[in-house]
Amino acid sequence: MPNGQPPLTLKLGIKSQWVCDLCSRVIESDKDGMLEWDSYFIEDDKIVRENFRIVHGRWMQGCSKNRPTDKLADGHLHWYTGSDGLHKSLEMLKRPNLNIDEFLEITKRLHVDYYEEARQLFDIARENADFDYEEEHVPEEELIRLIRKYGN
Ligand SMILES: [Zn+2]
Repeated sequence: MPNGQPPLTLKLGIKSQWVCDLCSRVIESDKDGMLEWDSYFIEDDKIVRENFRIVHGRWMQGCSKNRPTDKLADGHLHWYTGSDGLHKSLEMLKRPNLNIDEFLEITKRLHVDYYEEARQLFDIARENADFDYEEEHVPEEELIRLIRKYGN
């Protein structure tokens, strides 16, 4: 194996499993999840889109945390995965009053190898003064390093 490294042990399938933002359990497939956000008017013609989150579908048992439904907007998670999902996500960036930082984080989680697994470890690595990236590009080798060091 390359570099004599032991095989990488992952808890989540790459770009195929996610941690639910409501219950913190694994979403086993993009068919089991939803992309949700809050969407509401702040003026007659001005809609805000924010609080983007990846969650279990409401048809999945055991994930029943309440979220406000009066301003809920959502789409099936599998609409946003894969090449076509990336294309759809990129087009969504054109929408006005979209929380760009949140949406980019969601897009990284859905489309960047190792990102969803490694992001669970950012806080512990920061506590160890071992990770000083903020909202910026984290090289893939750094994501893998975190998983190797903190992922078990
Ligand atoms: Zn959940």
